[in-house]
Amino acid sequence: MSKIIVLDPGHGGSDPGAVNGSRFESHDNLRIGMAIRELLRSQGYDVRMTRETDVFVSLDERANMALRANADLLVSLHRDSFPTTTPSGVTMFYRWQNSAEIASTLLQSIPLRLRAGNRAEPLRQGAWRVLQHSRIPGVFAELGFISNANDNRLFDEHFDEYTQSLARGIVQALGDQWRDTADETPPDDETLDGGAIPGNMTPAWRVRGGTYRNQESAERVRQAFIRALAEEGIDDRPFLEQIMLPK
Ligand SMILES: [Zn+2]
Repeated sequence: MSKIIVLDPGHGGSDPGAVNGSRFESHDNLRIGMAIRELLRSQGYDVRMTRETDVFVSLDERANMALRANADLLVSLHRDSFPTTTPSGVTMFYRWQNSAEIASTLLQSIPLRLRAGNRAEPLRQGAWRVLQHSRIPGVFAELGFISNANDNRLFDEHFDEYTQSLARGIVQALGDQWRDTADETPPDDETLDGGAIPGNMTPAWRVRGGTYRNQESAERVRQAFIRALAEEGIDDRPFLEQIMLPK
């Protein structure tokens, strides 16, 4: 029996989610959900959608669909939003500890240049209602900020790469192997963070605004950004993460 994946495009119908001009979060969520469904179906999974059209579905109903299906994984798809245009980047949430590893795998699956923004913690715990059933492993993906023009550009111009990487991440999170099909091209850049360190690479610390071989320097720059953002009245903490640089 094939594993069951429930994809949950957030919002819909009378609930557009976050809005930026004529751009509705609900539409972005559905678009990427349907694309990921096709990729996962081609891998042999039983993929169910909480919605396939622009309709309203309550959070409890979405959660219960995953429970009734006894899903191996529930992935809720969203785009983030903020009152100012500054915050950017992908954030992956989990609610229950049994999903922390899955959320981490999914986050890492997205190429760094597509997911990196200025959020303090791209991987977080959050009490999302759609993830209410602890028995069903689940993640809540905020795929960049709809309130940030560059995030929208990345989402649109690298849409196939987003969907490919998320589909691969889901396969990996389920402990399975991605089966290559004839017509696909591999992602053009693998992320450098995570995995073994090749002999010709050395760790470095990247923060918004620069990359530093010294962690203290990176942290100092990050704190300066936090202070600058606070002065603008923005409660946002740019992330600091380790990457690999050629020696
Ligand atoms: Zn949302």
